[in-house]
Amino acid sequence: MKQAYEDMSGKIIGGLEAGGTKMVCGISDTAGVMQSRILIPTTTPEETIPHMIDYFKKWKIEALGIGCFGPIDLNKKSPTYGTIMRSPKKEWSGFNIVRAFEDALHVPIGLDTDVNGAALGEVTMGAAKGCDTALYITIGTGVGVGVYCNGALVHGLVHPEGGHILIQKRTDDTFEGCCSRHPNCVEGLASGVAIAKRWGKKADQLADQPLVWEMEADYVAQAIANYILMYSPQKIVLWGGVMHRKELFPMIRERVQKLLNGYVCHSQIETDIDHYIVTPGLGENAGLTGAVLLGVLALKGDGYVI
Ligand code: ZN
Repeated sequence: MKQAYEDMSGKIIGGLEAGGTKMVCGISDTAGVMQSRILIPTTTPEETIPHMIDYFKKWKIEALGIGCFGPIDLNKKSPTYGTIMRSPKKEWSGFNIVRAFEDALHVPIGLDTDVNGAALGEVTMGAAKGCDTALYITIGTGVGVGVYCNGALVHGLVHPEGGHILIQKRTDDTFEGCCSRHPNCVEGLASGVAIAKRWGKKADQLADQPLVWEMEADYVAQAIANYILMYSPQKIVLWGGVMHRKELFPMIRERVQKLLNGYVCHSQIETDIDHYIVTPGLGENAGLTGAVLLGVLALKGDGYVI
């Protein structure tokens, strides 16, 4: 991707990591270094979008990449391409975020999910650099999984929804889950919202309660073991608000090894898992960097490969 930036000397690319609570907007120079980064609270499209348009106009961007919360229509042949679908954020359901920026900025727009964007950032210049197949998992307010497989971000019928895979509930867990659709998906049982609802306190007030974190590690490890079996990733980047509690990492790694039980024969899992399930190399900028890269790809045109 470095090469792609070098090809584009003088270009100013905007990135937007569109989240349910905040919009992270940034400008990258041709070396991939963030020149500017601002946060705008996510309220309604009518209120939030004009602030972002003003910001990107001020910088005279030549392309914009958007990593957006979902579900979102990513099929370029679809008449509703760029539209946020049945979102829990009701004001945004049915809103076409691509069209809103195209109409105002008249520049190429790249789009993917927020987690696919972060995965792109990490494989291009972060902890998964050089991998053909890698995952970016966020455990925060919700749970999301970006999937980069055989050199491309995965789309399909819609896009992967790894936060909603079904996992086995512990017998001592009486919490009914917080997902409105599934009683035992990973987001419903292991997201930050699930922790707060199950225990009646926010995660940062539960530091001294081992059961909270043992349960959390059990659930996240189940999900990761399944992702490993399905995608065979060469690296798993794990982050999000809940994972700021770094003690979770060794607990999760140990449980992943136990769950796989020697079935996946590779040293990265059997003896070097500390370098396999890792924090993002780009830190909090993984999503925004990925969004900028989506903008670069939009400017390059379809068919360009990183
Ligand atoms: Zn669910």
